Amino acid sequence: MKQAAESATHVVAAIRAGDRRAIARTITLLESTRADHAERGQEILDALVSDTGGALRVGITGPPGVGKSTFIEALGLLLIDAGHRVAVLAVDPSSPVTRGSILGDKTRMERLAQRDEAFIRPSPSGGTLGGVAQRTRESMLVCEAAGYDVVIVETVGIGQSEVTVAGMVDFFLVLLQPGSGDELQGIKKGVLELADGLVVNKADGEVRALADRARRDYEGAIGLLRPRSPTWRPRVLAASGQTGAGVREVWEMVLAHRDALRASGEAAARRREQTRAWMWSLVDDGLRRAFRSHPAVAAQIPALEDEVQGLRTTPARAARALLDAFRSD
Ligand code: GDP
Repeated sequence: MKQAAESATHVVAAIRAGDRRAIARTITLLESTRADHAERGQEILDALVSDTGGALRVGITGPPGVGKSTFIEALGLLLIDAGHRVAVLAVDPSSPVTRGSILGDKTRMERLAQRDEAFIRPSPSGGTLGGVAQRTRESMLVCEAAGYDVVIVETVGIGQSEVTVAGMVDFFLVLLQPGSGDELQGIKKGVLELADGLVVNKADGEVRALADRARRDYEGAIGLLRPRSPTWRPRVLAASGQTGAGVREVWEMVLAHRDALRASGEAAARRREQTRAWMWSLVDDGLRRAFRSHPAVAAQIPALEDEVQGLRTTPARAARALLDAFRSD
């Protein structure tokens, strides 16, 4: 295969030079379920790791239809015009119910995709949230090594994916519908607690006034929460991805946050903690796989599950039996 014949050094050089095909191919290797491909991807990543970490990482979430792709396209184009290079990645674990993707297969962000300074990659398909998140983190590093200085990670505002994305970015932005108090009730408190900033989107046309009212409502709600950082109070803005109104102010908020957290040392601390947590989540995943595939453990699982479910033994006793079997060699 041509790809296999290509030396890792060549691919690494191509990525450093910003070659988008080399980036895309490496991400495909990292996402591959074939062990030899994934291993090749890891080798390339290893060679690039000292070139990573240079981007401002921004997570964007919001319910389906809130206007995420429209907003990201507007923001991305604005940043490119200001001289940035922008990568857009997505975390979209397939729905456990329908198995379909939630962000949708429609062609998104077409105008942004046409720009040389943009790199857009849909979510790795299938798999658990943990697996999808790991692939996205790795893709983020590849993009940074390739010189993208802004990486946007998009996710849908349902389930656990916001928590995961908030754990891999510098700034976590939540997009909201220009609704009234009723909808405010519907938004999960947990998501508001993760937000470094909120944007009431679609603040244009007839709903402009409604959006402004919602903005004030959210400002009140957020004021009641304990902020994540001692130096930063999450802000609430109104914007329109469609008209572009307020999008610049959103970026200025991201920069103000970056400056405040850099000055206090929290920016570096947050990155260090994220990297540490990521390593441990990989260890957890590896242990879980090794445990379940251990022959002595695997042989006992069906009987012990049965005994636990039939109340013939306690979960604690069954767990201990499995752990003993794992440790026995
Ligand atoms: P996503 O599912 O969150 O990515 O949302 P989309 O960006 O695909 O937008 C969903 C719908 O809302 C589309 O019909 C858009 O045209 C519309 N929309 C997106 N942004 C805006 C906006 O800023 N103002 C208005 N009025 N409509 C918008």
